[in-house]
Amino acid sequence: MSTPTLRLLSLGAGVQSTTLALMACRGELSGLDGAIFADTGWEPPAVYDQVRRLEAEFATAGIPLHQVGNGHLRKDSLDPQKRFVSIPYFTLAPEGTMVREEITETDDNGHEVIVGYRDRPATRREREGIGRRQCTYQYKIRPINRAVRILLGAPAPNYRRVPAGRVAEQWIGFSTDEIQRVNDRRENKYTIKRFPLLELGMSRKDCERYLRRSGWGHTVKSSCIGCPHHRNDYWRDMRDNRPTEWADAVAFDHAIRKGGASADPLTGEAFLHRSCVPLDLAPIDHITRTEWKDRQLDLFDDLEPDDGDESGCSPYGCVSGAPIARASEAA
Ligand code: SF4
Repeated sequence: MSTPTLRLLSLGAGVQSTTLALMACRGELSGLDGAIFADTGWEPPAVYDQVRRLEAEFATAGIPLHQVGNGHLRKDSLDPQKRFVSIPYFTLAPEGTMVREEITETDDNGHEVIVGYRDRPATRREREGIGRRQCTYQYKIRPINRAVRILLGAPAPNYRRVPAGRVAEQWIGFSTDEIQRVNDRRENKYTIKRFPLLELGMSRKDCERYLRRSGWGHTVKSSCIGCPHHRNDYWRDMRDNRPTEWADAVAFDHAIRKGGASADPLTGEAFLHRSCVPLDLAPIDHITRTEWKDRQLDLFDDLEPDDGDESGCSPYGCVSGAPIARASEAA
């Protein structure tokens, strides 16, 4: 591969990308020309503190930190004047919703064949669903791509056309336990993805250890306060230790019951918690199987291999595994 014009870190300010930022600032990873932080406007205060702290590290190392955004996700979601952007809410179709099922019979050869269909009322489970995730594209990927094009010299006023031959190597902080989230497909002509933590064989736990050794032991997960992808342990921690954020998320949860400011109100209801119960009543004290597994791994932190953790919202791979819906844009 020819030498990239620029090497740019996509900084989410969570555990993995903070590790990469510190490694670059301390000369353990060479060649970084800049970092880009995409702000949805709705990160917890601890993330903004972290970004400010990183800004000082970058300044000392002479690496520019570019902070970009595309609005305020919370406010925009409730503002009917703004373009609707789908957040992956959990949805519950109304009672009485019908589902169609096959009627089958076994034929003379012992094969099951469809002989008809019948409609029946859906069970509660069958009425549950999840919305599309466009928020990451609109509030993170899109402003990051624009910043990359500007840094590569795309001319005003629309900064769309990157001069031929100019390419950015984009550092993305996926660790070895997140391999299922990695997608190295090229999204456009002007960026090539690179995953330095995978090259170094570093897991999330390795990053946490690195951060502790570096005096950054309190690095928090980066994601919106009211992200539906939060796990029960994250919601509990918010309720018990960050009441202002919890009140904000609960109020938002109530406000989106009919889908927020969408031009087409939902026939059913939308929720932030996967149980499709209002957040302040949701069973967040339930310890999920994944959480038990993580707790056990934490006990044997230095002995056991990593098996994943809840990561923040990455522009390049979803916590849920759901695809990131891409709105039309000449990227
Ligand atoms: S953290 Fe959640 S709500 Fe925020 S942009 Fe990512 S997926 Fe959307």
